[in-house]
Amino acid sequence: MARWFGSGNLSVMTVLPNTPRAVAPDVLRARLDRASTEASSRGVDALLITPSPDFAYLLGYRPPELERLTCLVVPAGGVPRLVAPRLEAPLARHQLGELAGDVEVIAWDETDDPYALVHGLLASDARRVGVQDQMWARFVLRLRAVLDPVELVVASPAMAALRRTKDADEVDRLRAAGAAADRAMAAITGERLSGRSEAEVSRRIKELLLEAGHQTADFAIVGSGPNSASPHHDPGERVIGEDDAIVLDIGGMLDGYASDTTRTAFVGDPPADFRALHEVLHEAQLAACAAVRPGVPAEEIDRAARAVITEAGYGEQFIHRTGHGIGMETHEEPYIVSGNADPLQVGEAFSVEPGIYVEGRWGARIEDIVVVTAEGGERLNRTDRRLYIVE
Ligand code: ZN
Ligand code: ZN
Ligand code: ZN
Repeated sequence: MARWFGSGNLSVMTVLPNTPRAVAPDVLRARLDRASTEASSRGVDALLITPSPDFAYLLGYRPPELERLTCLVVPAGGVPRLVAPRLEAPLARHQLGELAGDVEVIAWDETDDPYALVHGLLASDARRVGVQDQMWARFVLRLRAVLDPVELVVASPAMAALRRTKDADEVDRLRAAGAAADRAMAAITGERLSGRSEAEVSRRIKELLLEAGHQTADFAIVGSGPNSASPHHDPGERVIGEDDAIVLDIGGMLDGYASDTTRTAFVGDPPADFRALHEVLHEAQLAACAAVRPGVPAEEIDRAARAVITEAGYGEQFIHRTGHGIGMETHEEPYIVSGNADPLQVGEAFSVEPGIYVEGRWGARIEDIVVVTAEGGERLNRTDRRLYIVE
């Protein structure tokens, strides 16, 4: 059975190196139960989930995102149902597999009003429903009109509560994604980079990510020379040359889970001030990773990295938060940022990625994905965190 978490373009599947591993039906049943419980504990009478990472998390597949409404309805304390256009009902039942016995597919015909159908699935006394955060406006506005006076709120508090702590199978997938990104990183830092454009190196990295087992290679930031000071630089035609710092930030999706890792390289012999900058960054990243353990407020991880960088005089050049949660999306809860006092929990996965950026000159970043374990933090990226000297 094909389980596809990517863009929803089924024709892409035929050229992919491999197919994402399916999620066990029991796991999905448990997730649906918990979604229902999370909704009711938040005073939300139902969750309305259109095709998205949340949908894939609950049902194990991701249907194409099209103009016809497909919507999973998870009532608080009730039975989940899937509203789908008639022509996609066979696909839905096929993808649900064993789960089709638990989630009834309610097919609508071209002349039906699918919004009224969703309305009919809600309890008559429903007052508030949670809509998936990335639901298209065309669906949200129609739902709001049909459901009036039911209040619409975002589904994310309930869904993030489910998704932010990963179970053992999810951690395995993140581990595999991390290891694959590491193979790509090890390969690219062993290649000659000078004389090639950023765009060319970026394309090469995407090839390496796919060869290493990712189903999709989603990003490969290559920021060289002054561009290394721009954290989200879009790789362009600049040709890499002698004395360039190069920030390489790469990742993709493997079995439904994201990878994301950054290393910094330098072409030729780095001057003392860049070596010093990278050394401070390295120390900050180590300190932040070492601070990870259950119960510690998320912002403490940010503080641990920032303290080292500020102490060394680069505080103003560390211009972004220390990290973001990662899972079925590259950026999700929990955010590792000042002001987030949420205590870390076992199973949470996030990036630890301090950076130092000297505008117009150079920059550096080191990024690993870390999972919170009972003992502390497990790094899912294992390539050396040193400054890579390349040709
Ligand atoms: Zn970023
Ligand atoms: Zn990154
Ligand atoms: Zn990141």
